Amino acid sequence: MGISTPARPTTFTVPYARMGSQLDEREVGIVREVMASGQTLSQGLWRDRFEERFREHVGTRHAFSVTSGTVALELAIHLLDLEPGDEVITTPQTYQATIQPLLNYDVTVRFADVLPTSLNIDPDRIAELITPRTKAIVLVHYAGLPAQMDEIMALAERHGIVVVEDAAHALGTVYRGRPAGQLGHIATFSFHSSKNITTLGEGGMITFDRDDWADRLDRLRGNESDAVFVPSDQTFGPFSQPPAGVLYPGRAYTHECTEFRRAGTNATLSEPAAAVGLVQLDKLPELVARRQAIAARLTEALTRFDGVRVPEVPADVVHPYHLFTFFVEPGSGIERDALLRRLGEDGVETYLRYFPLHLLPEWRAQGHGYGECPVAERLWFEQHMNLPCHPSLTMTQTEHLADALTRALTALSR
Ligand SMILES: *Cc1c(COP(=O)(O)O)cnc(C)c1O
Repeated sequence: MGISTPARPTTFTVPYARMGSQLDEREVGIVREVMASGQTLSQGLWRDRFEERFREHVGTRHAFSVTSGTVALELAIHLLDLEPGDEVITTPQTYQATIQPLLNYDVTVRFADVLPTSLNIDPDRIAELITPRTKAIVLVHYAGLPAQMDEIMALAERHGIVVVEDAAHALGTVYRGRPAGQLGHIATFSFHSSKNITTLGEGGMITFDRDDWADRLDRLRGNESDAVFVPSDQTFGPFSQPPAGVLYPGRAYTHECTEFRRAGTNATLSEPAAAVGLVQLDKLPELVARRQAIAARLTEALTRFDGVRVPEVPADVVHPYHLFTFFVEPGSGIERDALLRRLGEDGVETYLRYFPLHLLPEWRAQGHGYGECPVAERLWFEQHMNLPCHPSLTMTQTEHLADALTRALTALSR
């Protein structure tokens, strides 16, 4: 969730993204093709094609499309087989959906503070929080800037921990030659309207290599239970033989269910959405290039001022700039909220992403609170800003944004 600027005209010269991607005749054409084909609109060829292309893009053995990034996270967290008393380490600086499913499990969540250079989870803080009960690390690549995966995966390996990447911002991210989505053990993507690509407003994907997870997930998203199914003549349970008096014994259900883990759901991405996803994935390089060009212009405007700094982007990383973030330096005399106000008055719509999760009421009710992640708290309350950065911004809007930023920072710097 974001907090809007205090001064808020009804229309902005430079709006924050409602659409993170761009749709044109190519998407309209493919939707028309799907509709005219007379084929099924669910669980058909387009889903298979989209998943195959996604597997190629990310480089994992499996990719399962689902109805949203949130559902992807719910299903991914289910695959962790968390038991009461288990511990999960996560970041406070992400959208609430990253860890919301954990509220449904009897587990202890430990928030590892973030790095002030990237807003990503700090591997040293993770190391301090690991105990013999630590089962998983759930992290995000904030804004699309990858977390320090080599350090994190080394820790995970040493302690037998499963790493979940929330890659909702990170379609287009490359870390040391490898795309986000194959860096941890399991990853989730979102194709929500605001994200780097969209499948008509809602959609998501789960990627990983493990074949046993693939079997379970395929059943789960198609209304079957996550359980072990065995032919009933092999279980010798009460129904292995139809009870006496059943008129049509041949019609008795032929399978028994053992080791029941979870009820299935219907998380199937529709065919038109999957077809649009296929077109959007082809456009990803141009969409990312557009975000990077805007980010370069904003970085150029910002780096003229001493009182602000941008996140560090290592040379071996591709940053797709799902969000554009920068920080106001403490002691610079520039007050973050005054900057937000001036930008709002100058026609720039800003949102701050994201309120530290350990301070949300549902997590405070579990004993979390202020002081737990001092870096994330200080950045959020005093330093951190996000600016509009999405492919639909025109050159004129981008220039207006850079100029408004320069005007506001000049006025506030002393
Ligand atoms: C958007 C987002 C999600 C949720 O995705 P939906 O498709 O909107 O359900 C999860 N995590 C992060 C970091 C996100 O930005």
